[in-house]
Amino acid sequence: MRPNLIRHKHIWQSLFLTLCLTLLTSFVQSIGALAQETTNIAYSARVVGDNERARILIDFNKEPIFKIRYLANPNRIIVDLEQTKLAFADEQLTARGILSDIRYGIMSEDKSRIIFSLKTPAVLEDQQLQILEGDTYRLVMDVSISEQDDFDAVLKEQNWEVVETNPSNDESVEKGSRIRVSENKNSDKFVLVLDAGHGGIDGGAEGRNGAIEKDITLDFVNDLQKAFEEYDGIELLLTRDSDQFMSLSARVQIARDAEADLLISIHADSIRQRSLRGASIYTLSREASDEFASNLADAENLTDVLAGLHIEDAPDDVTGILVDLARRETQGFSDVMADRIVDDFKGQIRLLNNPHRRAGFRVLLAPDVPSVLIELGFLSNLTDEKLLTDPKWREKTTKLLAKSISEYQKAVLRDRK
Ligand SMILES: [Zn+2]
Repeated sequence: MRPNLIRHKHIWQSLFLTLCLTLLTSFVQSIGALAQETTNIAYSARVVGDNERARILIDFNKEPIFKIRYLANPNRIIVDLEQTKLAFADEQLTARGILSDIRYGIMSEDKSRIIFSLKTPAVLEDQQLQILEGDTYRLVMDVSISEQDDFDAVLKEQNWEVVETNPSNDESVEKGSRIRVSENKNSDKFVLVLDAGHGGIDGGAEGRNGAIEKDITLDFVNDLQKAFEEYDGIELLLTRDSDQFMSLSARVQIARDAEADLLISIHADSIRQRSLRGASIYTLSREASDEFASNLADAENLTDVLAGLHIEDAPDDVTGILVDLARRETQGFSDVMADRIVDDFKGQIRLLNNPHRRAGFRVLLAPDVPSVLIELGFLSNLTDEKLLTDPKWREKTTKLLAKSISEYQKAVLRDRK
């Protein structure tokens, strides 16, 4: 017995030693990684104030590179930070007093943004960058209530560069020149753009148990991409494949630049009627099919505003008969796709009543790319939230949807011949 016991002890000792060594190695590695890290970290934040003024304090581990700007409709103050990780806890930045809302997050690979929405017009009275102990930095912003005229004056003074977060915005919508009607499209190529709704600073809806729409849509699109491995002849393009902000017009532009044959935008929003659940499918229309669809489109279209973007009236600057023609034809294709999804989901995936609805969703505005938006379910409903975060449900739904899209693709290619 005894030798056996000793051997046992010996094994435990060496196991313990190995564990210590592993821990030590990973500790040393993480120290190394930290040292190499160039990203600044905003590790703490605070807002104090009343109905007249607010003081905003943000602490950084290095000197921050930042820009403070104003935006109107609604009035907002925006802080853009280069290479900064916003690591403070959510509850540290809660809106109070003259601030009606605070949101923050990633805008692009190297930029983060904090948006302070104002209950009343207010301007920055003072801003300071203080050096604290241990070479850390504190940004202090004092905001005071003002007249709308004062706000408008500082708004006018500022130099706001063209939205940087929109990679294809510069070439913008080339008026009319690239609109095509189906006669020009007779190849066997079929380009499908998958659009995971929201991302980065724009989290989208939040479930009652904490699920976040931008994660649900990204997971769904990733699985959908996998589901297409079974099918040939479909070229896939994703508007985003990470937690990244992207404006609605940039999403549309990606589809247009790719001369895509179809854009599918995935969402899972939240609505006031908590009992409502099930998937619903949307296509574009100037006139909404019903109030429900209209409200949903309004909420979706707010995305860019909430992320602190300038909203140009981009969508309608493509005008003319050619656009109308393309749009009408595109609309037909969009409706066919939407109805097919409804048919294929029936009896398999729970659907909202009248599941194909219409409204003015900005992400569906490409005049030459048939576009469909799918609300997978509603995060405001507990049962839906559970399903939406369930990998099994996701697998089933993505497989059904991939099949549905592939049938549509075959029909379109057949018609082209
Ligand atoms: Zn959404």
